[in-house]
Amino acid sequence: MRLGLDINQQQRLIMDKYNHWLAKVLGKLNRSKRYAVTIGQTAYYSVSKEDVKKSPEWIRHEDEHKRQYAREGILKFLIKYFYYLIRYGYHNNPYEVDARKAERRV
Ligand SMILES: [Zn+2]
Repeated sequence: MRLGLDINQQQRLIMDKYNHWLAKVLGKLNRSKRYAVTIGQTAYYSVSKEDVKKSPEWIRHEDEHKRQYAREGILKFLIKYFYYLIRYGYHNNPYEVDARKAERRV
């Protein structure tokens, strides 16, 4: 039974935000038009839902961050995320490494 996955998908439909100003601002700072930031169980995307749906790997990436938040709690995740960011940089941040692995998981 794929109940877990169904709950995830349902949450995504309810919680995610598209064309969101926060993702647009962060995207501008990162020189990227297509940008997302996940906070807790909500992914904020800079582009439309239709655009995001064209990239299932992008959704899987943000979903992995949601699992990381669920595991650690929001505050602990954010503290550790920024610690790793300073220590290892974005690309080698263990949370990002895992999220990139999740992109390829089907
Ligand atoms: Zn990420």
